[in-house]
This record gives sequence, structure tokens and C-alpha cells, in this order.
Amino acid sequence: MDDLNGKVALVTGASRGIGRAVALALAGAGASVAVNYRIHDGAAVKVVSQIEGLGRKAVAIQADVSVGADIHRLANFVERKLGTPTILVNNAGIGIARSIEDVTEQDWDHTLDTNLKSAFLMIQALLPGMRSCKWGRIVNLSSGAAHTGGVVGPHYAASKAGMIGLTHYYAARLVKEGITINVIAPGPVATDMVADLPQLTPAIVPIGRFGQTEEIAEAALMIVRNAYLTGQTINVNGGLYMT
Ligand code: NDP
Repeated sequence: MDDLNGKVALVTGASRGIGRAVALALAGAGASVAVNYRIHDGAAVKVVSQIEGLGRKAVAIQADVSVGADIHRLANFVERKLGTPTILVNNAGIGIARSIEDVTEQDWDHTLDTNLKSAFLMIQALLPGMRSCKWGRIVNLSSGAAHTGGVVGPHYAASKAGMIGLTHYYAARLVKEGITINVIAPGPVATDMVADLPQLTPAIVPIGRFGQTEEIAEAALMIVRNAYLTGQTINVNGGLYMT
């Protein structure tokens, strides 16, 4: 299906992991895709080549989405190179594990800025374009940790719960303009982030394995395709939320 033909998508943190899979899935459905990353330029360039191999347009763009000035540069670059982005996937995130005793104010600020403030700033930057197109899709990556607390720490759980409140605020206000906004809250997915968290093992997930990045990307595509779905949290977690 190439039903997203002519649409421009921007995926933050698309050089690796879940963001990469979402970028490839959107391109597979016809969209041009901006592949944002912070450090791993080689990986981002590879994702761009893969998208071009699918016959779609793509650009890689370095920007730290916790920084407002970087977000403006990112939005302007994508508009110039690909056109107006009307699909935004706020995926970039960090999960720095800290115990109750060790977590610091700096951990809190760094995590909240990267995981939550970034989504607010990205929405502010891209909303005018979506409004003028009278069509938009925003997908925010939360986590099962928003509901259960998770294993990373209070800073991470709070940043991911914040994504859900942010989504609820915008959802009812934007839907009449053709813009939907939803959350995906994954359980553990096999990425570098989870590899750095030895507390997470496949045995803690009822299905008995970690999720695959493509399984999260499928949920993102479903959200992008559905005009009636807004303000919702899609839990993709192998049954973990039910335990
Ligand atoms: P990875 O660590 O595998 O990849 C993170 C991506 O985010 C990379 O592309 C990285 O770019 C980018 N990134 C990090 N910080 C910034 C920044 N400041 N500005 C721009 N890009 C940045 O993460 P996952 O794929 O595992 O996770 C993706 C999202 O899903 C995150 O929000 C995470 O919290 C959430 N999530 C993940 C789960 C999991 O089990 N993996 C479970 C629940 C939620 P670069 O490499 O170039 O620095």
C-alpha cells in the first residue's frame, strides 16, 4: 500500500531502534521521510539509503531535540528539502537507569528535556504546517513505564507519563482540523536502549520475548492511517501491562 504517497514524515531519533523501523514503515507506505538523529550520522545515512532504495525521498538531519534552536533548524531544513511535514513521530528518547538514591536533578532535567519537552517543541514547530494542510498525524512514544513505573527511574517514568497528558491536551482541540495525536506505549523492545538495561529480560514479558521494532512500527502505521483515532494510548507490550 502506498496510501501515504505525497506525505512528508519527520521521525525524531530515527537512526536506530524503534525510530528507524517507523521511518522505514512510513516510507514503505509511500511517505518521504526526514531521519533525525543526534550522534550516529553513519546509521542515519544508512536509513536514508534504505528509504531511497524503496523509491522514496529521505534526508538525514542532525539535531538535538532537547534544544529549541535545533528544532527550528530541523523544521526549516525538512520544509526546504522535502516539503511540509504533516506526519510527526516524537520517538527520540533516552533511558538512563538510576536508583532512588542516585537519581539527580541533572538526570531529571536531561531526561525531561529529551523525552518530553522535545515533543512539545516539535509540535509547536510543525503544527502551523499541519493546520494549513488541514491534515496531520502526531505519534508520541511513551512507555509501559508511564503506567507501571518501570525499571529506569522516576525521571524516565515521569517523562513518559507526561507524553500521555500532553497528547490528551492536544487531541480534542485539534481533531476538527484533521489532526490526530496518539501515544504508543511499548513494553521492552529489542533495541540498544534495552540492551543497556540488564534488569529487563525476556522472561518478565508474558509472551516470553522482547518486542521487535517492526511490531511498534505497525502500530504507528495503524495510527497514521486512522482519522477517527485520537487521544489514545496503544499499549504494545506482549501482555506485560496485564501482569
Ligand atoms: P534507542 O536508544 O535504540 O535509539 C534512540 C534514538 O533516539 C537514536 O536514534 C538516537 O539518535 C535518538 N536520540 C536520542 N537522544 C536524542 C536527542 N536529544 N535528539 C535527537 N535524537 C536523539 O532507543 P529505542 O529505539 O529503544 O527507543 C525509542 C523510543 O521508544 C524512546 O523514546 C524510548 O523511551 C521509547 N521506548 C523504548 C522501549 C524499548 O524497550 N526499547 C520501551 C518503551 C519505550 P543517535 O543514535 O544518533 O544519538
